[in-house]
Amino acid sequence: MNYYSTNHQVNPANFEEAIFRGLPADNGLYMPERIPSLSSSFISSLPTMSLPEMGYEILKHFVDGEIPNDALKLIIEDTLSFDIPLSEIKGGVYALELFHGPTLAFKDVGARFLARCLSYFTRKDEKQLTVLVATSGDTGSAVANGFYNIPGVNVIILYPKGKVSGFQEQQMTTLGGNITALEIDGTFDDCQYLVKQAFLDDELRVDRNLTSANSINMARLLPQSIYYFYAWSRLSEIEKEEVVFAIPSGNYGNLAAGLIAHKMGLPVKHFLACSNANDTVPMYLWNGKFEPKPSIATISNAMDVGNPSNFVRMLDLFDQSYHKMIGKINGYAYTDESTRDTIQKTYGLSGYILDPHGAVGYLGLMDYYRKNTGTGIVLETAHPIKFRETVEEQIKTKVPMPEHVSLTNLEKKSIPFSKNFEDFKIYLQKSN
Ligand SMILES: *Cc1c(COP(=O)(O)O)cnc(C)c1O
Repeated sequence: MNYYSTNHQVNPANFEEAIFRGLPADNGLYMPERIPSLSSSFISSLPTMSLPEMGYEILKHFVDGEIPNDALKLIIEDTLSFDIPLSEIKGGVYALELFHGPTLAFKDVGARFLARCLSYFTRKDEKQLTVLVATSGDTGSAVANGFYNIPGVNVIILYPKGKVSGFQEQQMTTLGGNITALEIDGTFDDCQYLVKQAFLDDELRVDRNLTSANSINMARLLPQSIYYFYAWSRLSEIEKEEVVFAIPSGNYGNLAAGLIAHKMGLPVKHFLACSNANDTVPMYLWNGKFEPKPSIATISNAMDVGNPSNFVRMLDLFDQSYHKMIGKINGYAYTDESTRDTIQKTYGLSGYILDPHGAVGYLGLMDYYRKNTGTGIVLETAHPIKFRETVEEQIKTKVPMPEHVSLTNLEKKSIPFSKNFEDFKIYLQKSN
């Protein structure tokens, strides 16, 4: 399968090229040339399949033989080695819990798949690969975990000193092995600048075989389609008839992945684009104007994106038509105050603990129900323990610690670093 750039100024790439490049040279985003349509008999057999089986049957169309089927099967089994349960919040309303992976957020799915695909191609070519990531928190921890102990790949994470949560810092800095964390004396923008400069430096890029694990990478986006199929397949026959997905969104990768699933044949009544104060996409859905803005800090901070990159993919999937898009997606945006209030009320009424991101999705769904019906599925994108203080303040009790997480007594290993590019370049040239 080939992947074209949404800007159409470069030649299409195959799967391997698309995931190593991440971004096409014309600054567009890659999109699959063809979205395969799955037969209705395949769709009706979904309830008998496991999550990895489903993943394989869906993703094989996009990888299209570039990774042999047996190897791809193993990659997907390894990627989806944790459950993604549907948990009932109240009658007809479910949380799709995407937070049972190692870093307790949905980004584990994409990061693990990307890591394993890159490793497959790297081993085939016998070249050591260096992955650079700038992070404000969540991406770094998912990428660090996704790539941990993956043969042939070194990861260098750049994060702003003092600007990530203690939990996130632990997740990035205690692994060791092939993961190195650089604690940059600067902001997230400084980290991103260093990474961009390194990619622009031809000498470095080629010598060190650099790649990025950015969230716009196709190999992070595609596996996110799987859990839409999985969620739908676990509903009862009646519930399956009208399914509405509420998606707490920032960069709109999750929503784009849902649209791809729908285009492949998954029956979905409607999608809800739910955001915090960073309401660029909901505003577009309301008035047809796409006006990116600087990002605003909120309590659902993984969605603090003022200029969402995947919007171009959404437009592409609707043939650039505003009218087609609003026929399938409603937009909603909420303040921190109503998000907090929802965490409290939902816990009070049903005992379900929403995290601030899931709460934004839940709010969207409740607003949708003012005029519409359907089985509601809220994507619960992070475990509430990741936002412990905010959540416990509302529910007035402790959030239970998930069993598979132990962060005690691990030693932080990070290298303090300036924001000077020349220092970074020398470091990259020396380390190997
Ligand atoms: C990244 C993230 C989001 C936003 O997802 P997008 O695909 O960028 O829209 C939502 N919730 C959590 C917890 C995240 O980490």
